Amino acid sequence: MSHTLFISDLHLCQSRPAINELFFDFLKNTAPQAQALYILGDLFEYWIGDDDIDAGLNGQAAKALAVLADSGTKIYFMHGNRDFLIGERFAELARLTILSDPTLIELYGRRTLLMHGDTLCADDIDYQRFRTQVRAENWQKVFLAKPLEVRRAEVEAMRAGSETAKQAKPIGIKDVAEDEVRALLRRYDGPALIHGHTHRRARHDLDMNGYHTQRWVLPDWYETGGYLKTTLEGDWQFFEISAVPGRAQPAGNGGF
Ligand code: MN
Repeated sequence: MSHTLFISDLHLCQSRPAINELFFDFLKNTAPQAQALYILGDLFEYWIGDDDIDAGLNGQAAKALAVLADSGTKIYFMHGNRDFLIGERFAELARLTILSDPTLIELYGRRTLLMHGDTLCADDIDYQRFRTQVRAENWQKVFLAKPLEVRRAEVEAMRAGSETAKQAKPIGIKDVAEDEVRALLRRYDGPALIHGHTHRRARHDLDMNGYHTQRWVLPDWYETGGYLKTTLEGDWQFFEISAVPGRAQPAGNGGF
């Protein structure tokens, strides 16, 4: 059965080895049956440049992705707010194609807009300002020219700061702005939307003044892993992967 898989927000890092293993198991045992795998951002907890690929986790992930690509599954990657510095060198090693955010695809005949999701959080003014700054070509050039260890220290400091800021904000601001979603979907003439970032797995049915569409929010990989499976026949379904390798269960289409 032809199908395509979507994942995001794995936040791979050395400190969560069980989730890393779950991901490698997913690449080995679940993803090879898919025509394509879309990774919609925040595959890594952070990324400080393509020169940070060594024998550790980053290199291991690139290698595992390349094995999947060689088996015939096409891999697409969209930047998240954590790993927006992933570049062509990583793409080449992992044999994946980098997509811009947003990207409109034809998914088995259904027009579908793909995003990471951070741009939808329009109410978070501080974050959007930060995003504009770090996505600027010049900022990236200056940052990437610094020695690896300096970059690592700066990002660690930034992460410590952002944890504090997140806790200080009201819950609502970290979700998407509903007006922003509707305006965007209208602009693209009403496609389905798949995104991650908010870590709030759900299928939202949207009544758009004359037509209906859906917004699918991908799960994060913290307690469990998970993905959205879409088939040629038009079935869209979330699956949850428990810590038992290879054990994927239909997860229902609601939130947790
Ligand atoms: Mn994110």
